[in-house]
Amino acid sequence: AKQPVRVLVTGAAGQIGYALVPMIARGVMLGPDQPVILHMLDIPPAAEALNGVKMELIDAAFPLLKGVVATTDVVEACTGVGVAVMVGGFPRKEGMERKDVMTKNVSIYKSQASALEKHAAANCKVLVVANPANTNALILKEFAPSIPEKNISCLTRLDHNRALGQISERLKVQVCDVKNAIIWGNHSSSQYPDVNHATVKTPSGEKPVRELVKDDAWLNGEFISTVQQRGAAIIKARKLSSALSAASAACDHIRDWVLGTPEGTWVSMGVYSDGSYNVPAGLIYSFPVTCRNGEWTIVQGLPIDEFSRKKMDATAEELSEEKALAYSCLS
Ligand code: NDP
Repeated sequence: AKQPVRVLVTGAAGQIGYALVPMIARGVMLGPDQPVILHMLDIPPAAEALNGVKMELIDAAFPLLKGVVATTDVVEACTGVGVAVMVGGFPRKEGMERKDVMTKNVSIYKSQASALEKHAAANCKVLVVANPANTNALILKEFAPSIPEKNISCLTRLDHNRALGQISERLKVQVCDVKNAIIWGNHSSSQYPDVNHATVKTPSGEKPVRELVKDDAWLNGEFISTVQQRGAAIIKARKLSSALSAASAACDHIRDWVLGTPEGTWVSMGVYSDGSYNVPAGLIYSFPVTCRNGEWTIVQGLPIDEFSRKKMDATAEELSEEKALAYSCLS
């Protein structure tokens, strides 16, 4: 039988955490034959709620769940983990300056980076969900220099899945038949959802999304803004954020990273830029990637038109500014 993998979820008493931990315990993230031990971290004011989540996990009697650690101690939480999903973060509150939020998150990610570096399992894969996700991931990378940069990522898979969902609704096709959308850049409203290379499986073979939609104005306008603003639309409808789809996307992200992307399919992941597509090196930027043997590779050689270039540059620009702001909070 397989040895259990220890999976850390920070901010586990929060909304996303509540949706995410049962998915992990059911094998949605690492597969139906992979036992797991859940490590849940939260801050002291949330300790009681966290313990409640632990009680529910016990009550759910998940066959794959071999143990639960619920703690407010960062070192205990990080010890031995092979996967770390960082959902805990300081939320933007009304009236707060961006710099204030950034200062809080920089200090959280700095201390968690050190704990992961010292105590996580070798080759631990890290996924940052908490916003500003790309920049939090970058801070984590900076303060965990012994964790290889290929092991640190941020979540843009929800945006990617939203793009697939919008195309499937528009064309009235199954979402599983739509693939190869791309989210470029920041997990923020400056992200660029790109379907120039996306295809749909049809009875007469694979067809480009652009050819089937036949409405460039929609694809270049409303489609993009709908994906960019979907989070806000869900908050408006539910009065709560999109925790279910965020948790599901986090599972998709780790599953594809660990178990591989299907042949001919790519997904979007926020990863450390090596300068591909003229994106400044040293940003955590969302690219199209394929995964094999537990490693991602940026899909190379896709033609980029002028419209896309501008949008890719604008979101890179925003990330450079966030990076500068984060560094200014460190000093
Ligand atoms: P959620 O679980 O709803 O969200 C957690 C984080 O994920 C937020 O930063 C949120 O960003 C981000 N996020 C990214 N994508 C999405 C999405 N699609 N939908 C919703 N959120 C998204 O927040 P809660 O407040 O319910 O829970 C946060 C938990 O973190 C709390 O239990 C809190 O105690 C804990 N916490 C832990 C800290 C630590 O570990 N040191 C520090 C501070 C808090 P956004 O804010 O932009 O919505």
